[in-house]
Amino acid sequence: MKSQRNLKHEADGEMPMACPSCHELLILDLDLDDDLGALSSDTDASKAATRVNPAPPPAATVEGRLLHLSRLNQRTAVAAQLPYLYGRGHCPHCATDFAVASALL
Ligand SMILES: [Zn+2]
Repeated sequence: MKSQRNLKHEADGEMPMACPSCHELLILDLDLDDDLGALSSDTDASKAATRVNPAPPPAATVEGRLLHLSRLNQRTAVAAQLPYLYGRGHCPHCATDFAVASALL
């Protein structure tokens, strides 16, 4: 079951994750009108946010089909956000590169 904290982040267009190396709590911004793709530390505001390098999910996966359908049906928010969840992140705390999908909480 998701925590109240995670639900709040998602309602705000933010996706929480933990760095696989230093376990820092990180926040991916998925707000289309704000700073889509920004990855920041949830606890250390002194670290500058990094940018997630977006990548489409493989076509043969459920997520790849979701991306295809969202584009077909003009679900532009989903089509814009989904590649960030399959991209590569760079931890603003310890500088480790990682696959975003593997770090989601
Ligand atoms: Zn880290």
